[in-house]
Amino acid sequence: MRTDWLVVGAGFTGAVLAERIANQLGQNVLVVERRDHIAGNAFDHYDEHGVLVHKYGPHIFHTNSEKVWRYLSRFTEWRPYYHRVRAWIEGQLVPVPFNLTALRTLFPRRSAERIEDALVESFGHGARVPILRLKESNCPELVELAQYVYRYVYEGYTTKQWGLRPEELSPSVTGRVPVAVSVDDRYFTDTYQAMPLRGYTAMFRRMLAHPKIKIMLQTDYRDIAREVQWERMIYTGPIDEFFSYEDGHLPYRSLSFEMRHFGDSPHQPVAQVNYPSEYAFTRISEFKHMTGQNGSGTTVAIEYPERHEPGRNEPYYPIPRDEYRELYNGYLAKSRKLGGKVLFAGRLGEYKYLNMDQAVGAALSLFEKEIVR
Ligand SMILES: Cc1cc2nc3c(=O)[nH]c(=O)nc-3n(C[C@H](O)[C@H](O)[C@H](O)COP(=O)(O)OP(=O)(O)OC[C@H]3O[C@@H](n4cnc5c(N)ncnc54)[C@H](O)[C@@H]3O)c2cc1C
Repeated sequence: MRTDWLVVGAGFTGAVLAERIANQLGQNVLVVERRDHIAGNAFDHYDEHGVLVHKYGPHIFHTNSEKVWRYLSRFTEWRPYYHRVRAWIEGQLVPVPFNLTALRTLFPRRSAERIEDALVESFGHGARVPILRLKESNCPELVELAQYVYRYVYEGYTTKQWGLRPEELSPSVTGRVPVAVSVDDRYFTDTYQAMPLRGYTAMFRRMLAHPKIKIMLQTDYRDIAREVQWERMIYTGPIDEFFSYEDGHLPYRSLSFEMRHFGDSPHQPVAQVNYPSEYAFTRISEFKHMTGQNGSGTTVAIEYPERHEPGRNEPYYPIPRDEYRELYNGYLAKSRKLGGKVLFAGRLGEYKYLNMDQAVGAALSLFEKEIVR
């Protein structure tokens, strides 16, 4: 078998590149995917109760990029959706990011008023302020708030999520946690926030429906790379695996999901409820809030972070520590020696957490800069 391009992985990165190469260049693409489905981690399907669920955890689309929005809109219609998150703190469900409603619910009235005045005076109504900035302030009310949010919203959640204390992560992660100086409880602030009307997998099916694209599922590229003659490869799998872990493993955090079905819906008031301090799980997500599906029953995903063990569970999140970035840089240097025959891309190829829109944006620029020349 002969193909112009071998694309490893049918997630966002692989699918966008396969689509661009087939559509814009008219070249043949063979997409190999070791799972039994397309759409990578964004894969959704109907469970045995007929509820549309996200197999690898809740995926909410949001972007500020008009280019990405317009590109994906060729393959799907959208359902407007604003994601809302609550956290279970000291026996109350309060909005996350921590906002003025959370402040008024959890703090004694006088103290909440003082803190609110200080927030509005320092940053203006409507601002979103990272707790690092609050901590560095000279105002005792703001420092008190930063300490509270750090302790009740962030610390326990992060320790469960990463299996590390916050101090052991790159400081950029801790400092970014925002406080919203408003009662707006939308989780994201992006210009475009919506869910694909018929789901992610349906959108991927349309992206990949091109006569020049062939897809092989349940196929690891290593099993066919010698049998297939290819001119160039786009590799969206783990970069350390490509180099047979020569310099060591790049560590990931993994997750397991317990899917539970309930006869009555809704199960919870919003799509996502975080449990920063109690229980071994971090959050419960209810899909019907995101997909807008009607009907009586509902399915939720209860999310347990766990150590990644290659072969047993999925590599989900690259661990944000500087030493692992250095290990990755070593693999990157090796990849450059391949002279452009193999292009590494995507969250596993770049060992970098990418939101879906970032994965699409990066794939579109890779196409423009490295492929159409
Ligand atoms: C729990 C969780 C929740 C998320 N929620 C959101 C969200 O709400 N909003 C958002 O914007 N982003 C979210 N993301 C990020 C989103 O999943 C990524 O942006 C997206 O998956 C990136 O696509 P990708 O193609 O780079 O990687 P992937 O989707 O991982 O695709 C890579 C594919 O390559 C395949 N592969 C790997 N090695 C091989 C091999 N040797 N041979 C064949 N195939 C191979 C894999 O099986 C996989 O299907 C979330 C991520 C996680 C982990």
